[in-house]
Amino acid sequence: MLVLGIESTAHTFGIGIIECDTKEILFNEKSQYKEAQGMDLRKLQEFHVSNFDSILIKAKEFLKTINKDFSDLDLISFSRGPGIGNSLKIGALCAKTLSIKYNLPIIGVNHIKAHLEIGKMLTGFKDPMFLYVSGVNTQIIAKDEFGKYKIYGETEDIGIGNLFDSFARDAGLDFPGGPKIEKLALKSKNYIELPYTIKGMNVSLAGLSPNLKQKLNNGEKIEDLCYSLQETSFAILMEVVERAIAYTKKKEFIIVGGVASNKRLEQMAKEICKIRHVEYNSFPMEYAMDNGAMIAWQGYIDRKKAKNNIKDLKPTPYINIESNI
Ligand code: AMP
Ligand code: MG
Repeated sequence: MLVLGIESTAHTFGIGIIECDTKEILFNEKSQYKEAQGMDLRKLQEFHVSNFDSILIKAKEFLKTINKDFSDLDLISFSRGPGIGNSLKIGALCAKTLSIKYNLPIIGVNHIKAHLEIGKMLTGFKDPMFLYVSGVNTQIIAKDEFGKYKIYGETEDIGIGNLFDSFARDAGLDFPGGPKIEKLALKSKNYIELPYTIKGMNVSLAGLSPNLKQKLNNGEKIEDLCYSLQETSFAILMEVVERAIAYTKKKEFIIVGGVASNKRLEQMAKEICKIRHVEYNSFPMEYAMDNGAMIAWQGYIDRKKAKNNIKDLKPTPYINIESNI
């Protein structure tokens, strides 16, 4: 079953194509909005409007190389939310237009579930504990005893990626800030104490940002602050992850989202997993950050659940995006 997925919840417009029966990711291209000063929602929308067609053309050209066209797709899947309305509606429009033009079934999927499910598919894990760390999101998630995803802990304010980006902005580093902070952190071993806030199973990260800015203005070295930011914020996250693992007794652990590319975070995760006898696995970053392939895979899962035999489905396009955009 050939599924095309469209991602547009925030900065990324991505398209992925998966041969779902064999779990083969055939195509995964994206274009990313980058703005050092944060996201201007009007500019974000303009970005998606002016970039979606180039990715769509690439998808069409790819399909040609395997002697197929959009009409050979079995399903169009798109990110229904959570996300930013300005960008979500461009992906939804693109999906709906393809569906109408080629008479294809369409499905809107949950972006967060898509992050988790592609992680499971690519690691082969059956029932892992997840740490989902992106620009806006910081959540510790796993399936509960009823087989439903449950958030065991999360940030009460900003996402960890946004924390890194905001400190990077204060320090005059380019967007995205995470990779630059990781590089600078490698140059230091001088830990400067920072606020460490855990509230039950939730975390608070917003206080770190002004604290770091103040220390920067007081002349602390940037590499020391980058090192301390990583050590503090990752320790906060891993403490809650460890509690969640102890509570649920999960035996597998994966990190998903853009911050998953951070090697220091991965190192801490491996240490915790070793102590707790939990298996750790990672998968290519291309699929851990926002991308179209994960949306295609989630569309397949949801559609399969909705109808046991998807091949019998009539190609009747439907759309239900009101609640999210
Ligand atoms: P996403 O929203 O999942 O696409 O992830 C984007 C976020 O990941 C941005 O806030 C980046 O700063 C952050 N990020 C990317 N690479 C790294 C890294 N190596 N270390 C920390 N954060 C990172
Ligand atoms: Mg995401």
